[in-house]
Amino acid sequence: MEVQKFYVLPKLPYDYKGLEPFMSEEQLRIHHTKHHQAYVNGANNILQKLDKAHKEGLEIDIKATLKELSWNIGGHLLHSLFWENLAPPSTNTKMPGGLLGDVIVKEFGSLERFKKEFSQAAISVEGSGWAALTYCMQTSRPLIMQIEKHNTNVYPMFRILMVLDVFEHAYYIDYKNDRAKFVENFWNIINWDTIAKRFEELVK
Ligand code: MN
Repeated sequence: MEVQKFYVLPKLPYDYKGLEPFMSEEQLRIHHTKHHQAYVNGANNILQKLDKAHKEGLEIDIKATLKELSWNIGGHLLHSLFWENLAPPSTNTKMPGGLLGDVIVKEFGSLERFKKEFSQAAISVEGSGWAALTYCMQTSRPLIMQIEKHNTNVYPMFRILMVLDVFEHAYYIDYKNDRAKFVENFWNIINWDTIAKRFEELVK
């Protein structure tokens, strides 16, 4: 098997029109082919720089390099999760099934309450960042996380079940500065099946 030493932009599991009318073709295409691609390229450039430095014994600014690497790898991995937890509105299931549905209701009281808290988390991210539903394997509790930028406030060892990108670049073409409207419409294109499968993989 060929070892993959660099990151690759994943293909979307739907076409660029697939999330309309809640995410336009133009919005999705730019987000995927420009923004996500830039994190892939950024991470790969730094890895190549590290390869060269290690091979030739060159000095590097480790602190700056690692910071930039974390920004780019975090961006790439979060976007990869994001595309997979979206789905065309016609296939939207409205409810998380199975074990995931049970654990959400047990923790938050109801699905509606969870959606409200998650939306509030997403809307109130300061500047650029993400909302994430995560799961702590030590306490067996799902927890909402606010991620600043791509890489700050991530709890080590917590597993990420679903994410929502609230960088302006994720919604500006469709919603201008109305992040709340974008977050409201996110629930129309969420892929609960994928999220439920991620959870079942963790706890099986
Ligand atoms: Mn993004």
